[in-house]
Amino acid sequence: MDLGIRGKRGLVCAASKGLGRGCAEALAEAGVDLVINARSADTLERTAAEIAARHGVRVIPVAADITTEQGRAAVLAAVGQADILVTNAGGPPPGKWTDWTRDDFIRVIDANMLTAVALMQALVPGMAERGWGRVVNITSQSVRSPIDVLGLSNSARLGLTGFVAGMSRAVAPNGVCVNNLLPGIHATDRAEGLDSGVARAQGISIEQARENRKAAIPTRSYGTAEDFGATCAFMCSQHARFMVGQNIMLDGGAANISV
Ligand code: NAP
Repeated sequence: MDLGIRGKRGLVCAASKGLGRGCAEALAEAGVDLVINARSADTLERTAAEIAARHGVRVIPVAADITTEQGRAAVLAAVGQADILVTNAGGPPPGKWTDWTRDDFIRVIDANMLTAVALMQALVPGMAERGWGRVVNITSQSVRSPIDVLGLSNSARLGLTGFVAGMSRAVAPNGVCVNNLLPGIHATDRAEGLDSGVARAQGISIEQARENRKAAIPTRSYGTAEDFGATCAFMCSQHARFMVGQNIMLDGGAANISV
């Protein structure tokens, strides 16, 4: 399917690896010129060069912490105008609800809610003025099916979800579609970290922890960054014109919910 976005300009945050990279790859395959971001310059530059060579698009890497004002300023300066924005950042650590301090909450709300809000505030007005734009916020399955040990994530991401529910309707008349993409478990470094934590806590091997988790997913498998990226690229395509303010779950059916 031709996604109809060849020649558009996109920003994909936190994209040297994992789900962000999956989104960048799929957008590049659709012909989108990109700015991609992550903190470690080496991995990021290698990823940018690989994506550019594979898909024949321009990919500018900007090494910066997207959760800081300074980092966002560097990324936004490299982007100028964008037609497509994919917001993403590292996820918060697991823990126990009684242990989290105010500072922990502020840090995570900054990283996983207010960073996406600031990027949308910077780029969406330009999209609206030009009459076309697409935003995909990478959030989490925890928005619809909370995970107790990821309470910091549940809290910050629900805040972002509430914000998007309102602003997406405000910009839809201008041709800008803002939606959230909710990953369930995907085979990335983040999943490896979570599985290692479970293995340690339960005194089992990481392989066993992975098998146990897979057994709870109706597909009996983890998602991949490629699956995830393809869905993201569709949400950024011309065909997604009528998709507004949605929370699209990619979890292999793991959450036992009807809507
Ligand atoms: P990942 O494989 O660990 O990759 C994270 C990427 O983000 C890397 O490129 C990393 O590069 C970059 N990054 C991290 N913090 C950053 C920051 N402050 N500024 C800029 N770049 C940053 O993680 P992932 O699995 O793709 O997860 C992406 C998001 O989806 C996370 O928020 C995660 O919580 C959420 N999620 C993932 C899963 C899953 O199963 N994978 C499930 C639910 C939700 P640097 O380290 O070099 O910065």
